[in-house]
Amino acid sequence: IQSKLPHIGTTIFTVMSKLATDESAINLSQGFPGFGADPILLELVGNYTREGYNQYAPMAGISELRTALAEKTRITQGYYPSPEHEVTIVSGATEAIFCAVSALVRKDDEVIVLEPAYDSYEPAITLNGGIPVYVSLNSADFSVDWEKVKSAITSKTRAIMVNSPHNPSGFVWSQSDLDTLEELIRDREIYVISDEVYEHITFDGLRHLSLGGHSGLRNRSFVCGSFGKTFHVTGWKIGYCIAPAALTVEFRKVHQYVTFSTVTPIQYALAEYLKISDRYLSIPGFYQKKRDLFAEGLAETGLKLISSHGSFFQLASYGHLSQKSDRILAVEMTKILKVACIPISVFYSNQQDDKIIRFCFAKTDQQLLEAIKRLGELN
Ligand code: PMP
Ligand code: GLN
Repeated sequence: IQSKLPHIGTTIFTVMSKLATDESAINLSQGFPGFGADPILLELVGNYTREGYNQYAPMAGISELRTALAEKTRITQGYYPSPEHEVTIVSGATEAIFCAVSALVRKDDEVIVLEPAYDSYEPAITLNGGIPVYVSLNSADFSVDWEKVKSAITSKTRAIMVNSPHNPSGFVWSQSDLDTLEELIRDREIYVISDEVYEHITFDGLRHLSLGGHSGLRNRSFVCGSFGKTFHVTGWKIGYCIAPAALTVEFRKVHQYVTFSTVTPIQYALAEYLKISDRYLSIPGFYQKKRDLFAEGLAETGLKLISSHGSFFQLASYGHLSQKSDRILAVEMTKILKVACIPISVFYSNQQDDKIIRFCFAKTDQQLLEAIKRLGELN
């Protein structure tokens, strides 16, 4: 068969997690929590499955969850999207991103991608006949160089993909980033696909600013989120897309033929949980402690850290210690030191190797301390 994605292999997350298992290493590669969800939420899922909520949910998601999510959005971002016309429940942010790209991108449309970028964006664009146009983030802190974005815009630009808090760097956008983006696209028909899966994981008093909360960006943005990240349940694969009514109509046309609808009992459980618990508000404090614990220990190993202000990832550069490629270093570290990480060259279109590796610190303190101890052997 002639491949439609000849350049794509198995994702690095699958590769490194498998290697970590094979090598019995501490897995700080693929991003998922090493601890459980709130037992109350788990109980609710059990209850709803036993009570018979096990058949197809409505295509757009159950109205109770869409309403609960709209209410959470009002509390955290100060605007209330219409549950009926602007909120869709999907099977993870990956699906939200894929459906948004498919709804928007036509053959030969250009889509601006800020890199390093999460690995699902590019295949979604190419499968839809679009052309990814890459713009590098600033190398020191992974902030956006808006002049570069401006020069990448052409008459063929259909969309821009953005991601704050950023995977892999943890960079968090400021109000001025949002304002500048709005200015750049104001007089053009350019849409924004905003990957906000780490919306509740920000540190140092920074607050996540959703594009949906920006009056000039809301009318052209698909805001993609993930309950998996927020409630420590990545395996549930449930997320959402918030977009203005006209865009949601197009989004749902795709969603209804990609998955049709999303797992029913978990939707009921999340809807009820969101009504009775605002535990998501305590996530920044919870993860900031982990970031601090991990970063302090990691700095002692001789690696140079790049400050993480959000997400559950910490970048570290090692070029002053070794000239090995990041992929080789990641594999060796897993095999010899028994700690797995992600080489970040995989997040670049040209596989650019700046000798930086990514660690996931969404793990128990015990796991983090043991990993630091093992990484002490680095130099
Ligand atoms: N975007 C980013 C930046 C991510 O890190 C992830 C992580 N899994 C996703 C999207 C996908 O989220 P989900 O698991 O809900 O599909
Ligand atoms: N988002 C996770 C990460 O960046 C991985 C999810 C996946 O394996 N597709 O590590």
